[in-house]
Amino acid sequence: MAKRTITVARGDGIGPEIMDASIRILDAAGADVEWEHIDVGEKVYLAGNTSGIAAEAWESIKRNKVLFKAPITTPQGGGYKSLNVTIRKTLGLYANVRPAISYDPFIPSRYPGMNVVTIRENEEDLYAGIEHQQTPEVTQCLKIITRPGCEKICQYAFEYAKAYGRKRITCMIKDNIMKITDGLFVKVFYETAKNYPEIQADDWIIDIGMAKLVDAPEDFDMVLMPNLYGDVATDILGLMTGSVGIAPGANVGADIAMYEAIHGSAPRHAGKNKANPSGLLLSGVMMMVQIGQPEVAEKVHNAWLKTIEDGIVTYDLARKLKAQGKEHTEVGTKEFADAVIERLGQEPSTLTPVRYDKAIQIKKPVLSNVRSEKMDLIGVDIFTRDDCDANTIGDKLVELAKDTGMALKMISNRGQKVYPNGHPETFLTDHWRCRYYAKNQGDILSNSDITDMMNRIDAAGIEVIKTENLYMINGERAYSLGQGE
Ligand code: NAD
Repeated sequence: MAKRTITVARGDGIGPEIMDASIRILDAAGADVEWEHIDVGEKVYLAGNTSGIAAEAWESIKRNKVLFKAPITTPQGGGYKSLNVTIRKTLGLYANVRPAISYDPFIPSRYPGMNVVTIRENEEDLYAGIEHQQTPEVTQCLKIITRPGCEKICQYAFEYAKAYGRKRITCMIKDNIMKITDGLFVKVFYETAKNYPEIQADDWIIDIGMAKLVDAPEDFDMVLMPNLYGDVATDILGLMTGSVGIAPGANVGADIAMYEAIHGSAPRHAGKNKANPSGLLLSGVMMMVQIGQPEVAEKVHNAWLKTIEDGIVTYDLARKLKAQGKEHTEVGTKEFADAVIERLGQEPSTLTPVRYDKAIQIKKPVLSNVRSEKMDLIGVDIFTRDDCDANTIGDKLVELAKDTGMALKMISNRGQKVYPNGHPETFLTDHWRCRYYAKNQGDILSNSDITDMMNRIDAAGIEVIKTENLYMINGERAYSLGQGE
């Protein structure tokens, strides 16, 4: 087979040290790889490129389709954009894969039985970054969850489970509150599960689900989450294994993937030959499986397990072992890499050796087409800014709709219905959601009905700040009711 070229970013802070150590180990294990280096991160940011990545670097990643990346430092202030988010979104790396495995007692963890893989949706949710300040008092961030986004991540999770012999996926969402967005995520999860009868599928509301996960991680196999919950959960799970320094990660898209440790560039430890290269090395192991060199992955992973088992560790783990009075040898980054290289070909005797007996191919997602579904416009939420009380604005808005085909149904403030028949105790801001429906049930509205209503409100001296159309899609309500509606 032809040598595989992989794009490498050595990163900032401790990045170059842990990357050099990882590549040295992979090469020594026989990786049939040509490493093509690119510059990203601090140097590029400080040269005036606010994205932290230059055109030649993009070309290298797109050509080679695999990026092995050390952590980078995002300079504070100055409008610098997070390179990680830029890479994930630009290249459509929709699945974030983070195994959290306990190696207790060799790496002390309070959760000895833990072996959980989190699949986090990587492109959508509140990370779409669509934020506005709408009034002097009110800000908003849009939570975007799409059907194709859900289909891609759910299919990836089940394909991953099938490929890696995992038996159960638990979806964590908050669909009791966010019935439409998180509701779609869990709906697509169960739709997808039907095609994988051999894999058990269940769900938990995120709050109690996370509490259960932290209490007894050994009860979980894989967890699947929308972006924000997954971001929070994976750091917690990473630390539960004993150190952020050992947690690997992959960001996977349909054609391109990026492998990196979950930790940052730890600038305080840079250049001291101290940092633990394990998180990045184990990301490299995931990468070798994926590019079709599973024998290299297995050799490296087992040698790493044996090294840990022999008590050879960097400072972060030495501290923990010392606190427990356990025997160990503290070494630097380079010496840790030497120790792993010495053990290539060996297997752990207490920890379970890993087996990667075949290259893993995760099937590309197949998306359904819902674009032609029937959408009936039956109402509109017109958001306004006003300093008055609920009854004053409500009475005015009822009056304004009198000779139109629409009628005001209710007004809410921060989602709570305040008109008609509001409670004087409800706290009010300067931001009103005014819900109009077609006057006669069954009538379909047009965009000009809505602009006409907006013009009337504007002419009455009330500021319109945005609208949201209310649809029935395939005969089903496609918006939430206001609390108290
Ligand atoms: P960090 O993860 O870099 O470091 C936090 C602490 O964790 C360190 O002080 C160190 O004690 C420990 N640690 C982390 N990695 C270690 C390792 N391999 N070995 C031993 N100890 C380790 O988090 P931070 O200090 O919040 O962030 C520093 C910089 O990293 C920031 O500029 C941030 O933007 C960036 N960052 C980059 C990435 C990435 O590139 N993927 C991810 C997170 C943070």
